[in-house]
Amino acid sequence: MYALSQSALGVPVRPQNPYRILKARRGASPYREEPSTPLAEKAKSLEASLVTAFLKAVDVVNTQIPQGPLLAALETGSASEVLRVADVGTRIDQALRGKGIGPKEFSFTEAWTRVYQAGMQVAVEELANIPVSKALSEEVEKAAKKNKPAMTVGVQIALDVRSPESEAFIQTYLFDLIREVSQKTVEVIRAVILDGFTRGTGPIDTARDLRESIGLTATQSQAVMNFKSFLIDSRTDASVLREALSRELRDHRYDATLQAALNGKITLTRDQINKMATRYRERYRKYRAEMIARTETARAAIAGQNEVWRQALEQGLLHRERTRRVWLLAFGACDLCAEIPRANPDGVPLGQSFNSSDGPISDPPRHPHCRCGTGLKFLPRKRWEV
Ligand SMILES: [Zn+2]
Repeated sequence: MYALSQSALGVPVRPQNPYRILKARRGASPYREEPSTPLAEKAKSLEASLVTAFLKAVDVVNTQIPQGPLLAALETGSASEVLRVADVGTRIDQALRGKGIGPKEFSFTEAWTRVYQAGMQVAVEELANIPVSKALSEEVEKAAKKNKPAMTVGVQIALDVRSPESEAFIQTYLFDLIREVSQKTVEVIRAVILDGFTRGTGPIDTARDLRESIGLTATQSQAVMNFKSFLIDSRTDASVLREALSRELRDHRYDATLQAALNGKITLTRDQINKMATRYRERYRKYRAEMIARTETARAAIAGQNEVWRQALEQGLLHRERTRRVWLLAFGACDLCAEIPRANPDGVPLGQSFNSSDGPISDPPRHPHCRCGTGLKFLPRKRWEV
């Protein structure tokens, strides 16, 4: 166990989980981690492609849901009938895999795979700076010294970008990720339908709420519903707008209107309420897409890097005992990440997890806004021979 800080009594104090802070503050990150490695930099540069791919999949699902049958299903008052017609789980699953995505666009699956491959590429470039004499296993090292002393690991490696191991990893990883997203989507849509029935919202409005909620988590969708409730309730009690005005993800362009309504100068119209709720949802959806993109680009790039190291190890280009993986902190890394290099001063053997106060952690990112990376370190020969 590694304690980050000690209280006055000497009792270890567990750091706050930034993810929890993040959720509580709805969008504001308490840490501004910035990439400190070429890999993390690369991952960051590819984030936008994942945001686009995610939002595109959501749009595709929306165009696929037939409006007439959806309204008819809402009329029946049966949630299961609406869910059957909307079929959001299957639709989002397939859209993320590429169904309905144009030939010139990248599906979420393709975008993720490209980040993984970019991670491989950066890893090979970095291995090009590591001389064989530093990293090779002894037999290869001897041979290398005799023939090509300046050879680096990156030059020596016979990289297989589509190795069975990488293909299997990508497939399993994306299967789990997409399944999770589609399950959450069904959860949100069910909640929206039930909310519409409970409030007695008409089919047209519920259909809109449903469509606009695709891509949100249940918590986010609930936040939007609450926001909308404040706007509706303001028609009888304007003071609730103070709550609406405290929401960080609201569209500030409507602040003057909200303020006027709060001061009793105007009453919000139904149209204004719908517009504000729509904009609030759009902003939340973009926020969710960015969160997913940030975490997933980091994961994909590091997974690609790990695969390159695995291949280098398998080809005898890295020494099994001497090669260590180290956690490289992002600039401005949070306390939670900062404990990891301290807890693993010599790094860990390739393929093994890092120690942390939360138990073993295989790779960064440790939390949603984490930009940490991993690198290689080589133990001096003496260290592992004794
Ligand atoms: Zn971090």
